Amino acid sequence: MKTTRRGFLFGGAAVAAGAAVPPFAALADAQPASVPVRRSEERESELIAKWDKATEAVESDVYKTYLLDGDTRGLKALEANALAFEKVMREVKATTVTGDVPAIWSVYNMGYIVKTRESLFSIDLNHRRGTEFAPMLDFALITHNHGDHWRKDFYDAMTGQGKIVVSNFLDNPRFNEMKGDSAKGVGTYRIKDVEIRTSLIDHSDAAWGIDFTMAFEIRIGNWLLYHTGDSGRGTEPKLVTPWGRPDLWLFFPGCGINTAKAVEKVNAKRIVFGHLWELGHKTRHRGRLDEPLIRRALAAARPIVQDTSLAFWGDRIV
Ligand SMILES: [Zn+2]
Ligand SMILES: [Zn+2]
Repeated sequence: MKTTRRGFLFGGAAVAAGAAVPPFAALADAQPASVPVRRSEERESELIAKWDKATEAVESDVYKTYLLDGDTRGLKALEANALAFEKVMREVKATTVTGDVPAIWSVYNMGYIVKTRESLFSIDLNHRRGTEFAPMLDFALITHNHGDHWRKDFYDAMTGQGKIVVSNFLDNPRFNEMKGDSAKGVGTYRIKDVEIRTSLIDHSDAAWGIDFTMAFEIRIGNWLLYHTGDSGRGTEPKLVTPWGRPDLWLFFPGCGINTAKAVEKVNAKRIVFGHLWELGHKTRHRGRLDEPLIRRALAAARPIVQDTSLAFWGDRIV
């Protein structure tokens, strides 16, 4: 049986959550509305092994060259990175949100696009074509000043187009106005139908890492999202969500944090791991969150929050 590259990494057997059988007319639609993907643990496990193999073939310097020239060099993981962008862009345009529950896509790394009834925003968007989203976005959230969580071209495009960029380190006129004299931008903000509570957490327990990451508690109507960027050793007590139990926590469990402790502390209804196989980090380096580390993190989280899964690049999560 011939397997397409798309099928190889994304899995033809993926189960779409709540997907009804489309009416005949929808089959002829050039851009059918996207649906969130839900995989069985078994299917996810197969895909972890495939992605691990595909990403292991991409050394960090090859990835960095691809970021400049866009040439995927026939490498499945780079093709997946390119396809993920195309898929998310297409689906964002084709999707309308009607209730509180937003539509959320994983682009790459800890980078997500969120669509609500009234807004479109990004969190840690980091893709070589990310600037193409700038004209469509209302605002961007950036967790911290590391190159795998933001790109200067994207920040320039957003700021140049008068868009809001929320972060604890960038200069953005519209956010400067919103944050007032809060030096690190800690506060509560409302932008259209989205409320954002920012807080500082530790990227690592070294001096530079203390309060280095901005975590985002995001409320859309009654629906709560939590994104914690890179969170390191000892920061578990700083993971506070006063607005309530997150409906979804976008979590990177590979930065030194104690996964079980953090999962218990946040008590989210659903957890999705991101920052998988960060290609900018060396192969077999712990910063890449490869297969053994992913499996260990899943094993630590699932006894506490059973609904823990992975977002592969391009997945629509919600
Ligand atoms: Zn970082
Ligand atoms: Zn990172």
